[in-house]
Amino acid sequence: MQIGKVRGSTPFKCTIGQAQIAQLDRASRLQIGKVRGSTPFKCTKNFRPFCTVPKGLLNFNQQLYMLNLVLFGPPGAGKGTQSKNLIDKYGLIHLSTGDLLRGEIAEGTELGLEAKKLMDDGKLVPDAVVIGMISHKLDANKTAKGFIFDGFPRTVVQAEELDELLNSKGAPICCMIALEVNDNELEHRLLLRGKDSGRADDANPEVIRKRIKEYNDKTAPVADFYKGQNKFNSINGIGSVGEIFASICTIVDKYLK
Ligand code: ADP
Repeated sequence: MQIGKVRGSTPFKCTIGQAQIAQLDRASRLQIGKVRGSTPFKCTKNFRPFCTVPKGLLNFNQQLYMLNLVLFGPPGAGKGTQSKNLIDKYGLIHLSTGDLLRGEIAEGTELGLEAKKLMDDGKLVPDAVVIGMISHKLDANKTAKGFIFDGFPRTVVQAEELDELLNSKGAPICCMIALEVNDNELEHRLLLRGKDSGRADDANPEVIRKRIKEYNDKTAPVADFYKGQNKFNSINGIGSVGEIFASICTIVDKYLK
């Protein structure tokens, strides 16, 4: 059992899984909320279920249960840089599928060898591979305050699978934050990064263009998926790192109130 709370409610007892299915008894017009399996609790008319407003779910220590963010944007948009800032400020765990894949390559695993061919060619690796890696990391960090998903989900299938994984843990995605940067600027930034990143996929203009095309074809539709859930937020990704971080924090802080 843990203590649940939604905006404008009194705390109530519930289990993590059950917190997903919250209903306000609208018919009775009493402002009494109930999550399946929970004690009834007082709430305001603005009460909304966890599945759409996961802001206030508290654990036994009365801390935010999980702040799960998708940091979204094309290659070179600045997701890695801003993730570092977010980790420092909010104490979240960074899950970058790109970093995880590069880790597999560095260790010379079979998965890494297969992935390397696709990555060097600017293509996405298969959904099942990255979903498996993410699932493993979620299981290994059960007590995290929350996760920043960076470079994942990159296809609609990945987004659907992530929802399933997180919903089964009672800790859905709070929001997507999309960094908007035009293609010319991206190409310029990636070539610059390639000079010292040592990443083969950053050094070759043709591979960079392929990655941007993969993004436009397969990844951009993921934004619509989160728009459909009212979780999409867009930010101008051109400006100083500090300015962009401040805009991101304005959004994240709304989910902490
Ligand atoms: P960037 O966003 O700058 O391209 P990443 O480090 O996120 O860099 O990804 C590098 C490469 O790793 C991608 O081009 C792709 O081949 C592979 N990759 C990373 N994440 C995923 C994912 N979620 N699905 C499929 N392929 C991925």
